[in-house]
Formats: sequence, structure tokens, C-alpha cells
Amino acid sequence: MKRPLVRAKLDYPFEAPACDGSVVEVAPGILWARMPMPMALDHINVYLVKDASGWILVDTGLNTQASRDLWEHIAASHLEGLPIQGLICTHMHYDHAGLAKWLCERFDIPLYMTHGEYFMLRALSQPTPDPLPPSQLSFYQRAGMPDDRIERMWQTMRKDPFTPPEPRSFVRLREKDHLQIGERDWEIKIGQGHSPEHACLYCAKDQILIAGDQLLPRISSNVLVTSIEPEANPLALWLSSLVALEALAPNTLILPSHQQVFKGLHARTQELQAHHADQFEQITEFLNEKPGSSAFETMRHLFPRLLSPVDDMLALGETIAHLSWMRYEGLVHRSLDAAGVNRFQLTQQKPAQAIERLNIRQFQNQYA
Ligand SMILES: [Zn+2]
Repeated sequence: MKRPLVRAKLDYPFEAPACDGSVVEVAPGILWARMPMPMALDHINVYLVKDASGWILVDTGLNTQASRDLWEHIAASHLEGLPIQGLICTHMHYDHAGLAKWLCERFDIPLYMTHGEYFMLRALSQPTPDPLPPSQLSFYQRAGMPDDRIERMWQTMRKDPFTPPEPRSFVRLREKDHLQIGERDWEIKIGQGHSPEHACLYCAKDQILIAGDQLLPRISSNVLVTSIEPEANPLALWLSSLVALEALAPNTLILPSHQQVFKGLHARTQELQAHHADQFEQITEFLNEKPGSSAFETMRHLFPRLLSPVDDMLALGETIAHLSWMRYEGLVHRSLDAAGVNRFQLTQQKPAQAIERLNIRQFQNQYA
């Protein structure tokens, strides 16, 4: 039975800036700007935080000339004649860190990132092999993806036009670090599941969270299993990161990396938990009807529309993430068939019990 999804009621106190170098002040000394992206998700939010004698940037936009031009415009127009003094990248995805090298060199500033994000950025900026190495090929074959579709996906992925040049040094951010920026003290809160060591910044006194991709108002962040770490359980990390965010003040002003600045922390975390619970239920029903399905077949059920090569990578990774969570919870059993494809069966454990746990706070005890 499908759980009725109740849309969270969120407040959006500000009109979003256009992707034209304009800014919106969301709190004294905090500016919100947008960089364009040539894809369905057509923008990323970036923030500028005023320090005692300059500005700290949070996230960069993609490595494009349009983003570079907008940064030049913002630096010349909105910073009260003060210099840019540092760059914080919440995580390594190319819309967040794609211009890290350019900004650091252009404004001669340090880059602040977590260890996990910085080195993942450097690792992924290495040339992508062709053909697909056997260890990675077998990940997709085990998922039951047809060879022509694997090839189509890989050829698209390896030509990512936004792969950025790698910044050569960084200042490390850690969980519970405190950064004093201007009058505000910001605590670093690490989230996992979407990326390895994602930094959020929380100002407890003013109840402001610079959330990166850890909490978006209307879209759910990608949580993927990929060929790099085939046995990962990123949804367990993601769901426990959501619970950690629930400890923040309920009325926190959330500055996300996409869509609009909002309030409604708990409504949104619970909506996201319900979203994943719904995915688990859909998978349970599918495997009940079609026991022994592959991850690819499960993906086709969850995402029935035609998928582009990039969608294939995201949808398969997302499907395997849900299957892996269910497997580690003991809800699903995985076995390799004679053709080398993993087949998934429901176990005897009652799925409802594990899924119900999503909607209560027991995650904290289980995973924190
Ligand atoms: Zn991201």
C-alpha cells in the first residue's frame, strides 16, 4: 500500500535572486547569489558572508565562463569595496567546487574544505579511463544493466564537460570546528550520504544553517551507490545525517544550495524520511510481485520513463542505495546468479517494522 505523501509546509521569506550577478541579503552580512547551470536544475545558490575586513564565499558554481563573469561582477559591485578573503566549499560536486582553483588564484585566497571532499575532488579530476575498467564494468553487469546501456552511460560520464582543474591546497574543516566570520560563530556540521564529508555551517545564535545539498526544500539530494564503493550503505549515513539536523533550532533559516532559502526544518526532514520510506515500500511491493529481480529491473520499475545516460547512472545508483539499505537492515537477500547478475529477494523479516522506524527518531540511536 502506498503511503500518502503529505507535502511539507515551508516558508520562503525571500524572493530568489536571478542568475545575473544580483544579490539578496538574507541576514545582516549574508548575501545570496545564483550561478546558472545549463541543465534541468538550472542554478546553484552561492553565499557571501561578511567578515571583519572582507568577504568569505561559500561554494562556486560550475567551471564556466558565465560563472566567472558573474563572480567578477559581484566582486566589483556588491562587496562595499572590501576584498574576498576566503572560499568555503561545502562539498566536491562540480557545481559547488568547480571554480575553486580559479577563485583561489583570481583573488589569492585560501580554500576551506573537509579532507574527504578535497581528496575526492582531486581523485575525480583525474582522466577517466576508456574502456571502463573491469572492476567497474562488473558493478554494472552485476546490477543487470545491458552492455550497450553501460557503454552509452560510460561514454557520456567520461566526457563530463564540467570536470574542473584541481585546487592544489586546502585548509581542513572538521566536524565541530568553529569559524568566526564577522560577528558570527559558525559550527561545522558534517553530513554524509550525498557526498563523503559534506560541511554545513550553523550559527546557533542567529539560527542560520548554510546547508549545501544536505537539506534542499523541494528536491531530494542524490544518494547513490557507485562503482567506486559497491558495498556502501549511503542511505544509512544520509538518514542519520538528517536526524542530526533535527537537533538544530526548529525555526532555523536554511540557506540551501538549490531552490529557495526557507524555514521549516522539521517538516522538511520528516518529508524526506517519508520519501525514502515510500521508496522502500515500492521496492518491497515490486520484489513481492517479482522476486529475484535485478537492481536494473527494480530501477525500471521505480523510474519507468525513458532515461538519459546520466539519468541511468543516477537512477541505478539511487535504486542500489535503497536495495543496499534494505539488505543491511535484513529485509532483502542478495545472491549472484549463474550469469553474474545480483538477484534480490525479500527475507522473512517484516518490512513494515523497519520502514516504520523511518518515521520516528530511533534512527539516532541506531546509527548515530
Ligand atoms: Zn551535491
